[in-house]
Amino acid sequence: MGSSSSKLDLVPDAEELMKETGFSSAHLLRLYERFEFLDRDNRGRLGPDDFEAVTELALNPIGDRIVAAFFRPGKETVDFPSFVRILAHFRPVDTNRSRDGAQTEPANSRNKKLKFAFKLYDQDRDGKISRAELLQVLQAMLGMQVTEEQLQSIAERAIQEVDLDGDDAVSFDEFKRSLEKVDIDHKMSIRFLE
Ligand code: CA
Ligand code: CA
Repeated sequence: MGSSSSKLDLVPDAEELMKETGFSSAHLLRLYERFEFLDRDNRGRLGPDDFEAVTELALNPIGDRIVAAFFRPGKETVDFPSFVRILAHFRPVDTNRSRDGAQTEPANSRNKKLKFAFKLYDQDRDGKISRAELLQVLQAMLGMQVTEEQLQSIAERAIQEVDLDGDDAVSFDEFKRSLEKVDIDHKMSIRFLE
């Protein structure tokens, strides 16, 4: 094990990113190593293809949507700081909160995790999950296991249950409410070290 403080100098915006995301220096170094590994042509940026080497995503039925979430609209690559900021959504919530200085809501808050999940459904980014958008995700996740008819009725029931204002779509508020009792932190956390 070398001195991690000197290795940290190689990481772009290290101090700032640690402050902003709550990642420790060990986490950040580990993420940097991962990033460099994925960055096959060493240009300091990743394209969607580079993510194919991430097995967890390749095996995830909505992995392509998660990969797309790393890219800002219209951007074809992602640099290290943006990569880390996205991954910060998957950092488990701190049990001992020592970030009282932070003015902005941390990316790993319940609200931000839910927003991230919501965007995976809301592909046209109009702030609502339409019936068609819900169907697409269900199709990706359930795929061959169910018939088209079953999919339709699952989507139908889900919308009926969650749609409170009767516009036949799911707003972020409705989404949030429907997940009130769900342990989002558990579902949307990656243990980065260990
Ligand atoms: Ca939408
Ligand atoms: Ca609604």
